[in-house]
Amino acid sequence: MTSISMYDVIVVGGGHAGIEAAFAARRMGCNTLLITSNVQRIGELPCNPAIGGIGKSQLVFEIDALGGIQGWITDRCGIHFKMLNKSKGPAVWSLRAQVDKKRYMESIKDVVLKSGLSLVEELVTDIITEGKRVIGIRTKKNEYLSKATVLTTGTFLSGIIHIGTKRFPAGRYGEPPASGLSDSLKKLGFTLGRLKTGTSARVKRESVDTEGMIVQKPDEHPAHFSHWTEKFDPPRVSCYITHTTEATHKIIYENLEMSPWIKGKIKATGVRYCPSIEDKLVKFPDKKSHHVFVEPNGLESDIFYLGGVSTSLPEEIQLDFLHTIPGLDKAEITQPGYAIEYDFVLPTQLYPTLETKLLENLFLAGQINGTSGYEEAAAQGIMAGINAVLKLKDKAPFILPRSSAYIGVLIDDLVTKGTKEPYRMFTSRAEHRLLLRQDNADGRLMEYGRSFNLVEEKAYKAMEAKKETVHQVIERLKSTYLGEKDIVGLGIDAEPGLSLFTILKRPEVNIETIRQFIGNISERVAEEVQILAKYDGYIKKEEEKIKRYRELEGWKIPEDFDYGMVRSLSNETKDKLSSVRPLTLGQASRIPGIRPNDIILLSIWFKRCSARL
Ligand SMILES: Cc1cc2nc3c(=O)[nH]c(=O)nc-3n(C[C@H](O)[C@H](O)[C@H](O)COP(=O)(O)OP(=O)(O)OC[C@H]3O[C@@H](n4cnc5c(N)ncnc54)[C@H](O)[C@@H]3O)c2cc1C
Repeated sequence: MTSISMYDVIVVGGGHAGIEAAFAARRMGCNTLLITSNVQRIGELPCNPAIGGIGKSQLVFEIDALGGIQGWITDRCGIHFKMLNKSKGPAVWSLRAQVDKKRYMESIKDVVLKSGLSLVEELVTDIITEGKRVIGIRTKKNEYLSKATVLTTGTFLSGIIHIGTKRFPAGRYGEPPASGLSDSLKKLGFTLGRLKTGTSARVKRESVDTEGMIVQKPDEHPAHFSHWTEKFDPPRVSCYITHTTEATHKIIYENLEMSPWIKGKIKATGVRYCPSIEDKLVKFPDKKSHHVFVEPNGLESDIFYLGGVSTSLPEEIQLDFLHTIPGLDKAEITQPGYAIEYDFVLPTQLYPTLETKLLENLFLAGQINGTSGYEEAAAQGIMAGINAVLKLKDKAPFILPRSSAYIGVLIDDLVTKGTKEPYRMFTSRAEHRLLLRQDNADGRLMEYGRSFNLVEEKAYKAMEAKKETVHQVIERLKSTYLGEKDIVGLGIDAEPGLSLFTILKRPEVNIETIRQFIGNISERVAEEVQILAKYDGYIKKEEEKIKRYRELEGWKIPEDFDYGMVRSLSNETKDKLSSVRPLTLGQASRIPGIRPNDIILLSIWFKRCSARL
């Protein structure tokens, strides 16, 4: 018997995208249903139990500034925090945390249960439409109607797991796939692609000997992700590094035939930058050894995750090759490594709000859009959740430009260029990365979080106060000129009469050197002041570039614009523009294959048109 319930927003999937989408919708005052196929595995980390890292921590800080929960949960459950890239420029400093996987999932479930969301455990098989609008979803037993629906089904769409010659339908290890939904999307006219990813074996902690391994200690004074985190004194658990040997490589080479990843049994495209160990051996035959990262799954967990040896070889071969790795010679596997292939929706079928172009009120977020990674998923989730609510409240959409946030870069890349392989964020994808740092994410984005009721007034005021203090300290540095005595006191080699701001730009001077002139300021303020001084020239140049970028972004293109009218454009260009339907000239300029001259032709056409009006 079918029962029917009505919601404002329905979010399908309790992964990283789904949680942020549902949480945002609920906190924006909507009657929200989170429907997921397995409540026990809400917030699952199917690969490494780590959040953040290079290019990804920027996303976590941005999600936090908008009022999302990924960073806050990570702060609560982290057991090993490390600032990466500290020897490079601040644009690429990136916080990474190893989390206690069990606590992470329990904390997410706790937040979901206390948030007032309706939570249902069922497998969604179908999307219900009315004309060109989505009005709900169907499971085997029930129908759920909504004003907006967000799909965040991860790797579950027609998922197939491969372990050696074994091949079976699954969404993740131990969970059934979502085949009905794939068919439903195809019937509705969506073009789906096929991607693959993989993971390595988990091993029993007591079967691993870490004695001879390189110890990776966490930071002694760790930084944290969230503005919500007040007292912060996480456990400081070490991780380890060992390495593959020639014996490991010999076993893998001898059994390559049995790797579906290598032998073309999986037609889908995989993650180039996170290859399987088989892939690494084939691509880098001269390399005698590869790192293996040995990371605890939690404080009390009896499992180690093994990073760097993702594989789809048969389980017995996995065990054989692990036994040739120092410290893993007696390793016992608790879960084999595996590869998974799955459907994804070509993301050029989405608007930058993550609403589909084909069907109104349907939003997609996370791995379903071709991305890989918890952070990429969560970032899309919060944006889809916010935009779903704005849509049903008839409010202006929320689109972050590339110049304002990594989230803007991520979504713009997906909807403009699409992706042929699992997309993950890198700092190199952001043109303005010196301005999009993790330390200033709150200053860039918290205002939006507050306007959507996702960030409390107290947090917003604290951010404003921090901004003001940074401003005041900089002004003080600019207006304080050093005399001869001061220079001697500081022990630096400089001409008298220079401002403290100019002095701070020097490589041999840091904020500590001049602390006595500044007074008591927090570590976060000190860090930001130092960055703003040291990179002053570059930052100004970036700001100039952004001004030019915004001119093109400000040039809107009507959604139903007929590119056929611009006769000077080639047919190929017209096809490309018609298929992506960019919303601005800026977006048009980033479509692969669109040349600067095409943009000039378009802008001339628009100028002429507006002159005629
Ligand atoms: C084997 C494997 C290896 C990975 N390796 C890496 C890696 O090395 N690095 C990395 O960054 N990322 C990796 N990932 C990807 C990372 O796990 C995902 O990118 C991230 O979890 C995606 O989040 P999501 O919210 O989009 O989907 P998921 O976290 O997959 O969540 C999907 C949710 O949807 C639910 N669901 C699915 N279908 C339905 C349905 N029809 N009805 C109801 N509920 C449904 C599921 O129960 C689940 O809760 C890996 C993933 C897997 C599976």
